[in-house]
Amino acid sequence: MVAWILLSLACRTPKPAAPPDAPNIILVSLDTVRSDHLTTYGHSRDTAPYLDSIAADGVSFTDSYAQASATTPTHASIFTGLHPYDHEAYGYSRKLVSRHVTLAELLRDHGWRTIAATSSMKFDRGSGFSQGFEDYLLFGDGAKNRRSKKVSDGVRALLAEENERPVFAFVHYFDAHAPYAAPAPYTTLWHPGMDAPAPEDTTRFIQHNQSTPVPGPTRAYLAALYDGNIRFLDDNLRSFLDGLAIANGRSTLLIITSDHGEAFGEHNYLGHSSKVYEEIVQVPLVVRWPGQIPPGRTLDRRVQSIDLLPTIGALLDIPIPEGLPGRSHADALRGVSPTPPRVIAGVTDPVVIFNRPRNWGLIGELDGRRFKISRQTDEDLRLFTLDSDPGAHRDVIAQHSREAGLLMEAAVALGVPVGKRPSQQVENLRQLSQEQVERLEAMGYIDELEQPPQ
Ligand SMILES: [Zn+2]
Repeated sequence: MVAWILLSLACRTPKPAAPPDAPNIILVSLDTVRSDHLTTYGHSRDTAPYLDSIAADGVSFTDSYAQASATTPTHASIFTGLHPYDHEAYGYSRKLVSRHVTLAELLRDHGWRTIAATSSMKFDRGSGFSQGFEDYLLFGDGAKNRRSKKVSDGVRALLAEENERPVFAFVHYFDAHAPYAAPAPYTTLWHPGMDAPAPEDTTRFIQHNQSTPVPGPTRAYLAALYDGNIRFLDDNLRSFLDGLAIANGRSTLLIITSDHGEAFGEHNYLGHSSKVYEEIVQVPLVVRWPGQIPPGRTLDRRVQSIDLLPTIGALLDIPIPEGLPGRSHADALRGVSPTPPRVIAGVTDPVVIFNRPRNWGLIGELDGRRFKISRQTDEDLRLFTLDSDPGAHRDVIAQHSREAGLLMEAAVALGVPVGKRPSQQVENLRQLSQEQVERLEAMGYIDELEQPPQ
């Protein structure tokens, strides 16, 4: 009885209203965008002039990592502030369970109106990503090239509604993801074309050639198609944000990032999914908040997906769940003296990318040098010196066993389940329909298919 009364009171307790000066927050996820293919990050092609203009009015982080190599785990890390080995939403077959507090829940409970619009089946109702959102628009079906407009139109319509509350909008665009078949003229912006694969067949091509060497001209063609798709995405982003009117008249904190990159044969690997190569895990992070964040700066602090929740919490001055592993970069964004670096086992600002116990990596500085240690399927433990080998191609673990030992120590201290078998827990395992399995296979995500243990 007492419990019932307490529960009843809790349900009737009004949620706190957001402060009068609380901003709107628009969090944009550009699926499958590697940072070095963006104008802002030094790409020779003008793939993203609009994003570049936003960066000029805000801040871009030059050393930004995704927490994983696939859509589900990285977005789950963005929403929860947890490493993938803690939330265990490893792929489409494993949903984000409700006991984790998400960014949307946090903001909703502090007075924000929460809306989301997504353009991949990975966010469907069974994924667990809708928790905390009052409006949740799904555009994961149908022609890929038309989804972004649906996403933009859906969000713009909701933002134009009269509403006193500040708004949190999660906006997800899928244009850069294979197939690289943006409409004309985007596919021929930087390459006249090849006989095969046709742009619409690039998903299948990647699937069939994922781990085999591909000739240089074909790699260059795929990368040019991809760049054209990023330009299409950038134009869609412009259509969404240019002149965007939010009825409540509040200021807007805009955050733009990505969930993973894309490989074009740098390590004889195409696409993304489970490997932790640099080209697959380095992603953009651009933040703009007029009047609050001094514009026109680049920050070389290392950031990761799990840092977004603590950073947003600190910028808004709202409490976040205790014990989260990420850290806030609010001070650096505001231009005041930033928090000192974090050192674990002698490793400065370690970042963990984690897909599964057999596919993870850790990046950090040791004795002033930047290292990466990684363990991937079919590979021994490897170590790279990123200062002289930024693409992480030459394994130097034999020459640097001490450093490898310290990086492993940092990994263990951060909770990485080093050398353990994949979790057998089935709490979050989804039962997929035949149609869902076929769609996943068509997208090239065979390794995300898991079935409950018999
Ligand atoms: Zn993705």
